[in-house]
Amino acid sequence: MIVLCDEVTCAVCGHTGPLPSIGHWEAEGPWGLDNRPPEPMLSHLALLVQACPDCGYCAGDVGMAEDGVADIVRGETYQTLRHRSDIPEDCLHFLLQGHIAKAQGNAMDAAWAHIHAAWLFESHGDDARSCEHRLVAADLMKSEMLGNLDGFKEPGAVWLLRCDLLRRAGCLEEARGMAMVGLANGPSKELETDLRYELTLIDDGDRTFRDFWDPRGRPESAMTFHPSAPDLTHAATVFDNIGR
Ligand SMILES: [Zn+2]
Repeated sequence: MIVLCDEVTCAVCGHTGPLPSIGHWEAEGPWGLDNRPPEPMLSHLALLVQACPDCGYCAGDVGMAEDGVADIVRGETYQTLRHRSDIPEDCLHFLLQGHIAKAQGNAMDAAWAHIHAAWLFESHGDDARSCEHRLVAADLMKSEMLGNLDGFKEPGAVWLLRCDLLRRAGCLEEARGMAMVGLANGPSKELETDLRYELTLIDDGDRTFRDFWDPRGRPESAMTFHPSAPDLTHAATVFDNIGR
């Protein structure tokens, strides 16, 4: 992992100061079925979001902002959320990023922000909020999928992700439905294996974290292993940010 600390000028308020960013990511081991990265990337997730100390703008790069973002950041809803003292700062930054994405109409980007927040809530031992934000992400994905059924390159990948979010949040029957839809959509052999594995976990009432080695088996070599599953068009910007 290489962490940088460059001078950044906020695209919303003009504040200039040093902010950390990731120069090089490293991840060793299997990724979660919900695409949660392994260590050491997992412990550095908070660095995916920069936060302006002045106006509170949260983004992968606060030096850039699309049209309309400044008004969202200055808005009462954003500033109220920004000042929530009951939410850990690293989680809050993803929630703020998600708020902007949703307000801009980017449901899948918003979903990824909530998924990242869920992983961090889990790392803080807050299972309830972790579940809550998995469900927020699942709902955002539902709205996105309804309008963009052909927007995902690999059949089954988005259903697997949504299935795993729902299973881990305890919505087992809805998760089962997602797995069945995924299987009916002609997934690759690997994704079919993953979706059938999800069904066995759902049958067992198993809400625990599982990675891609669980259904597919541990590879004989290559400590760095990442399946092709997160081939999700709408997640492209998020994945670019974390260096895939
Ligand atoms: Zn600012």
